[in-house]
Amino acid sequence: MLIAAHDDGSHIEASRDLPTATYLCPMCESQVILKRGRKVAAHFAHAPNSDCPGAEPESWRHLLAKQVLAEQFKVLGWGARIEVPHPAAPPG
Ligand SMILES: [Zn+2]
Repeated sequence: MLIAAHDDGSHIEASRDLPTATYLCPMCESQVILKRGRKVAAHFAHAPNSDCPGAEPESWRHLLAKQVLAEQFKVLGWGARIEVPHPAAPPG
């Protein structure tokens, strides 16, 4: 996932230059790990064996597609937010 939450509830987008800190999943509020690989876009990941719906693995193409789409929508003037649960999604 590309978004995590801080202790104060504010959300932050994953990037390589984020400081080491405690980041939380916005869905289940468990701690997530900032991953800053060279081939994959910076993202947050749950600990192994998490049962959170947001813990499903995402390919680098999926992560990149979400970033590109959000950026392009913003360029067009359409407010775009990523990692927002759909109202029809089952509760986490
Ligand atoms: Zn979660």
